[in-house]
Amino acid sequence: MSTILVFVEQNSGSCRRAALECLGAAAALGGDVVAVLTGPGATDAAAQAQGAGRAIVLSGAEPYSPDATASCLAAIAGDLGAQVFLCAATATGNDLAPRVAAHLDSVLFSDCTDLAAEGDSYQATRPWLAGKAIAHCTSSGPVFCATTRVNCFSPCETAGASEISERAASTDGKARVTSLAPKEGTALDVSEAPVVISGGRGMKDPESFAILEELAKAFGEAAVGASRAVVDAGWRPHGDQVGQTGKVVSPELYIAVGISGAIQHVAGMKTSGTIVAINKDADAPIFKLADFGIVGDAFEVIPALTAAVSALKAQG
Ligand SMILES: Cc1cc2nc3c(=O)[nH]c(=O)nc-3n(C[C@H](O)[C@H](O)[C@H](O)COP(=O)(O)OP(=O)(O)OC[C@H]3O[C@@H](n4cnc5c(N)ncnc54)[C@H](O)[C@@H]3O)c2cc1C
Repeated sequence: MSTILVFVEQNSGSCRRAALECLGAAAALGGDVVAVLTGPGATDAAAQAQGAGRAIVLSGAEPYSPDATASCLAAIAGDLGAQVFLCAATATGNDLAPRVAAHLDSVLFSDCTDLAAEGDSYQATRPWLAGKAIAHCTSSGPVFCATTRVNCFSPCETAGASEISERAASTDGKARVTSLAPKEGTALDVSEAPVVISGGRGMKDPESFAILEELAKAFGEAAVGASRAVVDAGWRPHGDQVGQTGKVVSPELYIAVGISGAIQHVAGMKTSGTIVAINKDADAPIFKLADFGIVGDAFEVIPALTAAVSALKAQG
């Protein structure tokens, strides 16, 4: 049976949703899924690592060092004879996975939207050229390494890891995370929210984003994103930027408000489940991609939409 090693990100004893999705992708490949976790609360989180048969908690790995963790993961992969290494395509995963792949002398397929196993070989599906093409890739490298795009895989319904062991890890890396600052406000991160409402230059000024925040609040589990034009103007933080040079998101529902639909923006949201565009220009390129389009002024459409969503939520 093949061994699939998954780096599972956790926060204070809870697995991140993106990590549970990655475990779901691993379990779907079939094989012995081994989760590796680190940081305070890792043992509690290991018990929630749905889809993993066993989990390894790295001890003494504080402060977190991506290069030290990567060499530790590569050593575990070697010790277990793992055929596959996976982690979620989050900021941490994107930092860690290439280092692990390099240690394993393997290529990395990043930001995959699908994975498949065929006998002893594995295939990755990933958007290419800003989402204009879909690549189906396979590797002849010793270990198949991939990161999974957030919101593209389903977590397992099974219980967490039943066997949890510890392994001493080192913090002796060149890079170390010395502190973490929580994001301001209570909003979910755009890369993990099931609903993302992004505003563009059509929102006119930073204060106007308040109406998008209201709509997000009406939905409940939603985050407000932004185009690069807005971030470059200093209206919204860089962490909210969706696109080629921002975050790649794949929520169930993506609402683009006052965003023209430049290819660099589309690259970051094209794989969203349902795309709704609100723009006063009927010829805006975003409408070519949208499942539903509203040609209108955002300042009229958004408050009406917020009222409609709130009314629906109130009905239960
Ligand atoms: C290397 C590179 C990387 C890039 N990376 C990114 C990236 O990661 N993410 C990204 O977003 N961009 C990125 N860009 C920039 C991208 O090319 C566009 O410039 C940017 O996406 C445009 O942002 P926008 O749609 O908000 O603004 P605009 O293109 O100015 O569009 C504003 C839209 O708002 C509409 N509008 C105006 N008023 C209203 C109103 N009242 N109601 C409704 N609609 C209204 C207009 O009709 C228009 O369509 C990148 C560019 C380069 C060169």
